[in-house]
Amino acid sequence: MDLVLNVADYYFFTPYVYPSSWPEDQPLRQIISLMVVTNLGTAILYLGLGALSYFFIFVHKLKQHPQFLEVLYLALYVFVNIWTVSIHDGDYRIPSLFENVINGSAHHTDHHLFFDHNYGQYFTLWDRLGSSYRYPSALMGKGPHDHIKKLMTEGKLNSNGVNRHNNNNNGAHVKKE
Ligand SMILES: [Zn+2]
Repeated sequence: MDLVLNVADYYFFTPYVYPSSWPEDQPLRQIISLMVVTNLGTAILYLGLGALSYFFIFVHKLKQHPQFLEVLYLALYVFVNIWTVSIHDGDYRIPSLFENVINGSAHHTDHHLFFDHNYGQYFTLWDRLGSSYRYPSALMGKGPHDHIKKLMTEGKLNSNGVNRHNNNNNGAHVKKE
């Protein structure tokens, strides 16, 4: 990403978008650039791969089915969106019977924490076969929520989530004792 941003800055943003008085390492400029570059990149990737799969993989005969687009596509679209939000919501509850099979929020949290585990979106099967499965830290009492509780118990965080030893300019938000 750094390389992409650097190239975009050098060849596009600096001469055509930002005033030359804005230094390239200014945080606001970097945030705007990153948002533009990642969103454009995502759109190009998504639409490009979507077009490839539409033209070369999708069985076009299916479109003739009277209810195909309305019912199946819509149902899958809604399901995928709800599922994707649910594995990012930090609600780690899952029936213990499915704990080892379903890739839920607890599993996916470890994917974000450790990067090389629990790639699955729905199930744990392929992670188990590919040795990237990791039993969720959250289900062992070592997840992010547990870490926050521990810090609060030790008095290192207050209930607003503000670090009590933080004496910088945000000091106004630190609870006075
Ligand atoms: Zn995720």
